[in-house]
Amino acid sequence: MAFELPKLSYAYDALEPHIDARTMEIHHTKHHNGYTTKLNGAVAGTDLEGKSIEDILENLDMSNAAVRNNGGGFYNHRLFWEVMSANGGGTPDGAVGAAIDEAFGSYDSFKEKFSAAAGTRFGSGWAWLCVHKGGALEICSTPNQDNPLMPGSGCEGFPILGLDVWEHAYYLNYQNRRPDYVSAFFNVIDWGKVNELYAANK
Ligand code: MN
Repeated sequence: MAFELPKLSYAYDALEPHIDARTMEIHHTKHHNGYTTKLNGAVAGTDLEGKSIEDILENLDMSNAAVRNNGGGFYNHRLFWEVMSANGGGTPDGAVGAAIDEAFGSYDSFKEKFSAAAGTRFGSGWAWLCVHKGGALEICSTPNQDNPLMPGSGCEGFPILGLDVWEHAYYLNYQNRRPDYVSAFFNVIDWGKVNELYAANK
């Protein structure tokens, strides 16, 4: 069963003005679609064919650049679309809200640390909120399309929130102003979905 580009659960313009429709459409139909197609090409006819993406990433041979880049790209973008919503934003509630207060002191302090992880990632990459077994939270970041599930990623937990800081994610609307894009992201985070992922992976 080949990997398929997931459909978004909202329209391309649903996240405006924080993320513009043109960026969303190109990001989904060109970038994410490209990673998906190339991932299928990279696993076809190998012993990775038919395995789940989580299984592939967790047991990845990091010298396999095609699967590392495109498997990461496939997984990372799928999570990215899922953790955003037109009705997003606000202060996180539920178990994630409590875990954020415990790990970072407050939501504002979490925003500061997450923004720093996103802002100081040189070049292209991702900022992550990950949950450890037991429920503790961690903020980390990875270069390129690397992912917290990959061996030696520098992140320990399971990703429940991810922010794409590649220029293709924001350049049309924000040009070089990555901090403005990062700050806008907090207005579209679907904390209900993040809570679901937290409960399922803690
Ligand atoms: Mn991207």
